[in-house]
Amino acid sequence: MADNENLTPMMIQYQGIKEKYKNDVVFFRLGDFYEMFNQDAVEVSRLLNLTLTHRASQPMCGIPYHAAKIYIARLLRFGKKIVICEQVGEIPKAGKGIAERKVVEIITPGTAVESEYLDGYKANYLASLSITKGRAGFAYIDVTTSSFSATSWSAAKMTENFAKELNRASPRELLLPISLKTNKDIRTVLDSYGNISVSYYPDWDFSSELSFKKLTNQFKTANLKAFSLEKDSPEVVPAGFLLDYLEKTTNSDIPHVSSISVYSDSDFLMLDDSSRRNLEITENMRDGSSQFSLLECVDFTKTAIGGRLLRNWLLFPLTNIKQIERRQERITSFYKDRNLLAKVKNDLSSILDVERLAGRIAMDKAHAKDLQALRTSLESWCKIKGYIEAFDFSFISSENSEKICCLISNSILDEPATSLTEGGIIKKGWSKELDHWRSIHDNFNQVLSEYEAEEKQKTGISNLRIKYTNAFGYFIEISKGKLSYVPPHFIMRRALVNCDRYTTEKLQQLEMDLNESSTKVLELERDLFIEVRSSLHQYIPYLLQIAEEIADTDVSASFAHAAIEHNWVCPDIDDSCIFEITDGRHPVVENHIPTGEFVPNNSFLSAGSDDIPSFALITGPNMAGKSTYLRQNALISLLAQTGSYVPASKAKIGIVDKIFCRVGASDNLAKGESTFLVEMTETANILHAATERSLVIMDEVGRGTSTEDGLAIARAVSEYLVDIIKCRTFFATHYHELSRMENPHLVMLCMDVREDNGSVVFLRKVKEGVTANSYGIHVARLAGIPQNVIDRAKVILARIQSLAQDNPILMEDIPLSEQNNTLKNNDENNYKTPGLFSDEEIIISEILSLDVDNVTPLNALQIISRWQKTLNNQ
Ligand code: ADP
Ligand code: MG
Repeated sequence: MADNENLTPMMIQYQGIKEKYKNDVVFFRLGDFYEMFNQDAVEVSRLLNLTLTHRASQPMCGIPYHAAKIYIARLLRFGKKIVICEQVGEIPKAGKGIAERKVVEIITPGTAVESEYLDGYKANYLASLSITKGRAGFAYIDVTTSSFSATSWSAAKMTENFAKELNRASPRELLLPISLKTNKDIRTVLDSYGNISVSYYPDWDFSSELSFKKLTNQFKTANLKAFSLEKDSPEVVPAGFLLDYLEKTTNSDIPHVSSISVYSDSDFLMLDDSSRRNLEITENMRDGSSQFSLLECVDFTKTAIGGRLLRNWLLFPLTNIKQIERRQERITSFYKDRNLLAKVKNDLSSILDVERLAGRIAMDKAHAKDLQALRTSLESWCKIKGYIEAFDFSFISSENSEKICCLISNSILDEPATSLTEGGIIKKGWSKELDHWRSIHDNFNQVLSEYEAEEKQKTGISNLRIKYTNAFGYFIEISKGKLSYVPPHFIMRRALVNCDRYTTEKLQQLEMDLNESSTKVLELERDLFIEVRSSLHQYIPYLLQIAEEIADTDVSASFAHAAIEHNWVCPDIDDSCIFEITDGRHPVVENHIPTGEFVPNNSFLSAGSDDIPSFALITGPNMAGKSTYLRQNALISLLAQTGSYVPASKAKIGIVDKIFCRVGASDNLAKGESTFLVEMTETANILHAATERSLVIMDEVGRGTSTEDGLAIARAVSEYLVDIIKCRTFFATHYHELSRMENPHLVMLCMDVREDNGSVVFLRKVKEGVTANSYGIHVARLAGIPQNVIDRAKVILARIQSLAQDNPILMEDIPLSEQNNTLKNNDENNYKTPGLFSDEEIIISEILSLDVDNVTPLNALQIISRWQKTLNNQ
């Protein structure tokens, strides 16, 4: 393509535009299609599965313009930015030059405002990060709702904090200074994050000076003290940059954005990224959907705003007791009055996304249907307020709502058009001028036939007709036989075989009026609509506040519903360090197994107490329910601090400042990192960051290395947690050796298991004590591991158990030549047949489950011979 001379003028025009938007997809309007060329075409055809064609040997693909939104929505999900380039001005006739084209809109994942491009239940964040004097500032904004937040951290702790904030806010677009392009920590975090559009801008655009100005202008304040920001605060730079970018891409001065919420870790219950993932709060670890997440289990919201707020409550649990209790009170009001709850939920379901509607009104992007949606939503909300005014919700007055509803219902048709240019928007009676032009338009046929009658009578031509053709417009038709009656004020237009066509000054005037009235009506409807929409600007802050109230009500009702549905209880929250749960359950597991099958368990820990242990060491075989028990405790404390009821019959929780949840699983293998390294890095983070107020959940940490290493580390970590940090800790381990630890602040718990007719029954009940062994060999046998391997394992196990208890032994110490009979002769006293699955029982269960009809005689003999062997060996 280097050679411009070979290009058509249109392609030259295209390349001029593409030059400016190198990294974006350019939608180039050609007739009824948006076309993409070259690299764009190759990429988009691949992403959207479109046919790739060629034009003058250049790749090209296209989509019909009327279906563009669907394609744009999909491209946005891939993190693409789309530049819409339209034909403007007159479209030249064929062969006469090319139409002028202009970029009319840039749609990016983080700035899109139309509902087609958004997920109603998730905030749509645009984010930016920069580093000022060794501190990273991170800001994110959802321009559709005006939600604007920022935080900061020491640049030395980039990976940890950036991962935490990025994954929590989950923005769709990120803006960075170019100097951070090579930052390894940032790269690492971004690499493991999903589809996001990342763009880099020159560092000089990220300036405290400019950003400070931008923010104060936007918020109309002299400084930023009201938002706890100084000029050189690290949050200022990225926040200001976001505003600048938004103004440029959306072509709007985003008047609804009027404040920013600056937070730090200590304002909320802190959960680092891996704890948040491990607890599967808003998404599961398997496929990232909300299925089997805590969110799914508590989400009974009826509105999109409520859905977004609920997510937010779960991601930002509180640490302030007063605030938590305030939420509890609201939930309790609904919990206690189920009739009221049903009524409120019913009316909530007719409320649309008032927050985003307000955003679109502010950005002049709302259409007439949006305004009607706003009106019906406000009406429903007024009704709900009527029911619940008695509670301490302290709502703002409805006066403005009434004004808004009145304005909309008087001015806008009940079922208006979506387009602004095709009429069908404004109600009759709203504007005298519009009604006047409409009457001309609507009465035209009447006026025309009156005029026709008048001329008929004046001329005496009985078959005189006023007719219309597209090419000609209106004319009077006189048949050849009557031509002698034609009066002088008739102007000859055209002679045909059977008749002649005439016009008159009056007819011309009428036609002009008609044409004018059509244009006038359309113009006026558009202008009047824009006027109504603009007059709603003054109510934006009010509408955003209403949206907040609706969301709050919806979330409170939703938690009340969850509490009733799942039989939860309101926890006592105080500033002690107690963690006392009676009949605690795992909210998600319980929800997904048959009712009544979940076995509830108690927990009782406290930090800083002489009588109550702070550290629970939990042992038990695989599948016994350790992980479930651990997680349920973390989820109960998290739910409690969002203000929710909790799955228990009684709960008393002293405020937790941070929850750490670590799982020593091999899940991270997929990422290609050393699991053990990850495990240790994360463990190190806990030991540095946990305080006496924290809640630590450690599930099988230390698995990723050899037995001795793992055991040693697990033990040292436990000791540090119990002696130095002293926080509430649940520690599940497969290292039975750990149970020899002695400490007054440590309690040994184990998962109860019972042998029942030759099979293991996991009682899922937590009791004090230590499990004798892990039953691993028995489980292995059940799973069909060959008998000689099982036998060999028994020998090794027996030796391990028999040799000096405090001397961990190496595998090589047991020669492979040692056979079962050696064991029988030498170690008989030490080898205790573990309580579960004696050989007889295994055989009996095998007999019982044998499908006799499907066993050949030969097969049966073989099986019997195997049994004999097994029994003889004993
Ligand atoms: P572990 O960590 O000890 O291997 P898990 O916690 O993973 O065991 O539990 C194994 C399975 O047992 C879970 O999938 C769950 O369905 C079930 N389970 C766990 N705890 C309970 C309980 N308290 N009541 C009923 N079923 C449970
Ligand atoms: Mg487990």
